[in-house]
Amino acid sequence: MTNKTILVVAGSDSSGGAGLEADQKVIAAHGCYAMTATTALTAQNTMGIDDIHQIPPEFTRKQIDAVFRDIPPSIVKTGMLGSAATIKMLSQALADYKVERLVLDPVMVATTGAQLLPAKAVDELRTLLLPLTFVLTPNIPEAKLLLTNSGEAVGDVRCVEDLEHLARQLRALGPQWVLVKGGHAPFKKDGTAATSPEERELVIDVLLGPSGNVTRIESPYVDSKNTHGTGCSLAAAIAANLAKELETVDAVHAACRYVEAGIRTAPGYGKGHGPLNHFH
Ligand code: PLP
Repeated sequence: MTNKTILVVAGSDSSGGAGLEADQKVIAAHGCYAMTATTALTAQNTMGIDDIHQIPPEFTRKQIDAVFRDIPPSIVKTGMLGSAATIKMLSQALADYKVERLVLDPVMVATTGAQLLPAKAVDELRTLLLPLTFVLTPNIPEAKLLLTNSGEAVGDVRCVEDLEHLARQLRALGPQWVLVKGGHAPFKKDGTAATSPEERELVIDVLLGPSGNVTRIESPYVDSKNTHGTGCSLAAAIAANLAKELETVDAVHAACRYVEAGIRTAPGYGKGHGPLNHFH
């Protein structure tokens, strides 16, 4: 029997569109089974984050241990980690349980601008977790922050080759696969940078794997305010597709299509950045 169990190590979003709540919906929508270890609680809605309560890492570790003792997951997916201490705890737990399939969404800053990982913890994320990662899913700002202080020069993204360069620099830091999400730098139809909102027609995500070959995943740009939790949902869908034993390139392709369709059919909840449609 396929082991379709996934452990999510992430923060909770009270509005249900991002974080653990989104991950569980996505994983359920893919027919897989989600378990959770909570790193932080947030008081938030579609307009922003009011407060964050970081869970002591010793307690999150107890949740991880309880899960592994009973239902060892086939994949671990991480979201908001929230502190350097939680990152250290997680790297030790991943090593203790010899986790080979880690989907790491390097959550750092929310769409609304709220800081979800202190800047000083980025070094720990890079040095302790990237070497243990199977698929890393940064957006462009996260990719740049991960490369800052790593000794790599980071420039602006003007063309798809710039996204590929970011992916190669990040893969050199340890992950087996890197998906750089291009949503923050939409292109014109011809693949050159859009210089005005009207020119935004195409989003290109680039996936780089162990062979060194790059897969470009193109999606039409969808102009929507309902993008809350897009990153969480994409990484959770990749984790679910991997648990269902899809090849990595197929798992990522299918996850990108799932999120794009979810944005197109978003229910329109909330006064701010609303959630996508997770069940379609
Ligand atoms: N809250 C939590 C707990 C999250 O994990 C995330 C993203 O990963 C967010 C909020 C931010 O979501 P978004 O930037 O998509 O609005």
